[in-house]
Amino acid sequence: PNIRKEKSMATKPDILVVVPTRPKQMEMLESAYVLHRHDKADDRDALVKEVGEKIRGVVTMGSKGLSGDLLARLPNLEIVACGSVGYDTVDIDGCKARDIPVTNTPDVLTNDVADVAMALTFDIVRGLTRGERWVREGLWRDKGMMPLTTTLTGKTMGIIGYGRIGKAIAQRAEAFEMNVAYHGRTKQDGVSHAYFGSPEALAQACDVLMLACPGGDETKGLVSREVLQALGPDGYVVNIARGSVIDEPVLLEFLKEKKIKGAALDVFENEPKIDETFFALENVVLQPHVGSGTEETRDAMSQLVVDNLAAHFAGKPLLTPV
Ligand code: NAP
Repeated sequence: PNIRKEKSMATKPDILVVVPTRPKQMEMLESAYVLHRHDKADDRDALVKEVGEKIRGVVTMGSKGLSGDLLARLPNLEIVACGSVGYDTVDIDGCKARDIPVTNTPDVLTNDVADVAMALTFDIVRGLTRGERWVREGLWRDKGMMPLTTTLTGKTMGIIGYGRIGKAIAQRAEAFEMNVAYHGRTKQDGVSHAYFGSPEALAQACDVLMLACPGGDETKGLVSREVLQALGPDGYVVNIARGSVIDEPVLLEFLKEKKIKGAALDVFENEPKIDETFFALENVVLQPHVGSGTEETRDAMSQLVVDNLAAHFAGKPLLTPV
């Protein structure tokens, strides 16, 4: 601790940038810290060898997080500022064991992610991008009308992960006159929507199964063969959570064999090199992880990274610790 204090008085803290923030916030970081660009390094291993000892902060995002291996090579790390709300790729147990706080970016992205969740729902159920292809590829001209789709009105959305984003999705679903039910590890007080104690029971009861829970080990494969079976041939699944939440090979099997009606996905296993089996399917809508991807929201997320780091190095309480 004494060494750290001396350092903080003498020089700007050294920060390892695993994933950069938006440009304006990168400028702020550049003026306050000495940045080491892991993201840009040709030889990352050599960079870490050279600067690992002096790194006091890490800037990252959910896409890369902070692995246990890298964490182990940063012996004087004091803080991890993650520029996304999901931090399943950060070695949280490793950070906890060393009392290293981790910050994320809750709330500021909730509405944008919920908008994409609702847009995906609308798209897969009403066939918007399918219709777009129908026009663009000349099928309207050659074959006539596109097959009819399904109404959203009166259908039930079952939300797994009824947190900040889940609740914002519920509001939007209600505006579309859908019914809402949810599943989480615990039943929430003061909530009027029906609670289901298991993903299977929720899937059985809903038409659109919406995934809005965190990723990571605890939810890996939560949407299993049994859950998709319970959703059934008229059911849709929409995933804005993390690719790991669905058993993806099983999902692909169910889509190919039409054992569910469709899937709309913003997140995948192995992003961005996703399983190309998806490309040939008609009953999917695919998005490149754009839930929080607006300039306004990404700026707000980046600002939280800057503000959390500033608070830490000023000895003030963190704004959004996980
Ligand atoms: P949040 O407020 O913490 O909500 C998470 C919800 O998930 C809680 O209601 C929690 O309820 C539930 N949950 C946790 N573990 C669960 C489990 N094992 N099984 C079932 N439910 C579980 O988080 P948020 O801000 O809404 O964000 C949710 C997630 O959305 C993030 O972690 C991230 O992965 C994802 N996300 C995606 C994008 C995108 O671009 N697609 C953008 C932002 C966020 P209980 O504690 O009662 O279980």
